[in-house]
Amino acid sequence: MIPPEFDYAAPESLEEVQRALRDGGEDAKLLAGGHSLVPLMKLRLAAPSLLVDLRRVPGLRGAEREDGTWRIGAMTRHADLQGRSELGPVGQATALIADQQVRNRGTIGGSLVHGDPASDLPAVLVAAEGTVTLAGAGATREVAAGDLFEDYLTTAVAADEVLTEVRIPDFSGWGSSYLKFTRRAEDWAMVGVCALVKRGADGACEDVRIGLTNMGSTPLRASATEAALRGQPLDAEHIGAAAERAAEGTEPPGDLNATPDYKRHLARVMTRRALLEASEAL
Ligand SMILES: Cc1cc2nc3c(=O)[nH]c(=O)nc-3n(C[C@H](O)[C@H](O)[C@H](O)COP(=O)(O)OP(=O)(O)OC[C@H]3O[C@@H](n4cnc5c(N)ncnc54)[C@H](O)[C@@H]3O)c2cc1C
Repeated sequence: MIPPEFDYAAPESLEEVQRALRDGGEDAKLLAGGHSLVPLMKLRLAAPSLLVDLRRVPGLRGAEREDGTWRIGAMTRHADLQGRSELGPVGQATALIADQQVRNRGTIGGSLVHGDPASDLPAVLVAAEGTVTLAGAGATREVAAGDLFEDYLTTAVAADEVLTEVRIPDFSGWGSSYLKFTRRAEDWAMVGVCALVKRGADGACEDVRIGLTNMGSTPLRASATEAALRGQPLDAEHIGAAAERAAEGTEPPGDLNATPDYKRHLARVMTRRALLEASEAL
């Protein structure tokens, strides 16, 4: 459980971070909260020769609302976001990540770049149709949630890019819910569901977005359920019927806790509950 030896740098600007990454070569790695990377190093599944710590870089922490969008710095910790109702599903999901100790260290940027489909924030970003800003040595680019998660633990973030900011639309006027099913309190999700619902002037569902945690090698949208609910009344009968389609197009991995079939069952049940909770919040 002791990681291999590594060098450590804690630069004080983004430019210095880029320089350290360049000088460190392909074995250099960024360090945020260390709650995914350090366990991998202890298990010797990762052996970076240099860790470049982002904690001293100014301007990477905090959440601000600007022109209908939340701009959240990559180094913002889960604890800074948990339970904040103005942040909608981000506040709800961060409150359910592990225990307070993990939430005090883990960051939104680290969670998204790590790209674990069992993590809670990737499904929220996908449902919210958010974006991330990636600062590379030569250029900065914006990547949409739908293009960020490529495969299991694989994202579109290049080795020399720093995720600096996460943008999530302001969901004022929508109902939202994030629910996860766990074997024990504070566990990783066997299945998690992020639901966002908007009611139209006629009382029916004007728009709906659903993100699924741990139902494939990347976070997924429950598109069939979304299509079935749009334009329908937001009552228990229509929500229940739409939620029956939540597992369509998913390929959940079997693990020690659940078979793929059981996860599909959980996806249907948790989607129904999350949609009901989001609708009741309207
Ligand atoms: C016991 C335990 C239980 C947990 N349970 C849950 C859970 O229930 N739900 C959940 O969602 N998560 C859970 N986590 C994971 C936790 O949320 C982590 O904090 C998170 O996955 C990674 O964030 P981090 O800031 O620690 O990143 P780090 O571990 O520091 O980094 C992770 C990866 O991202 C890269 N990286 C980090 N920041 C950036 C950046 N700004 N730009 C580019 N690359 C970057 C690193 O190089 C590394 O490859 C758990 C962790 C532990 C230890």
